[in-house]
Amino acid sequence: MQAESLIIRPPSEYRSLLVRITRGCNWNRCRFCGIYPAMGQPDFSSRSLEEIKEDINLLTTRHPKLDTAFFGDADPLAAGLDIFIGAARHLRRQASIQKTAIQRLTCYARASTLFKLGKTAIFILAEAGLNRGHLDLE
Ligand code: SF4
Repeated sequence: MQAESLIIRPPSEYRSLLVRITRGCNWNRCRFCGIYPAMGQPDFSSRSLEEIKEDINLLTTRHPKLDTAFFGDADPLAAGLDIFIGAARHLRRQASIQKTAIQRLTCYARASTLFKLGKTAIFILAEAGLNRGHLDLE
């Protein structure tokens, strides 16, 4: 059994648990990019929370010592708060079963998605354990 892989992640996350929340990019129009179509993932979709939880179970069992995590692909917050927060909480629960505490959870974050979610949602995400969002030029 295999967890779904991310297409890319920030260099700083090379030792993190890599959890796929969404597939591809929901924008795909930055002229300098094109990474997801080039890597065979032209479409964007959200995964179900059940699928994501299965991957988290696998990853935390196989890598019990890893204490940082990254959620992808390009815009995992577009999956919606319920899915993202459900995944973040499940990750922390599963890590604690392995006697690990997740020290840092980060993700890519599109500015327009954050804007649509709004300030209150960002506080809720922080409470659920999201420590950092990587925003870029898009
Ligand atoms: S939003 Fe990010 S992943 Fe999507 S096209 Fe732009 S740079 Fe690439």
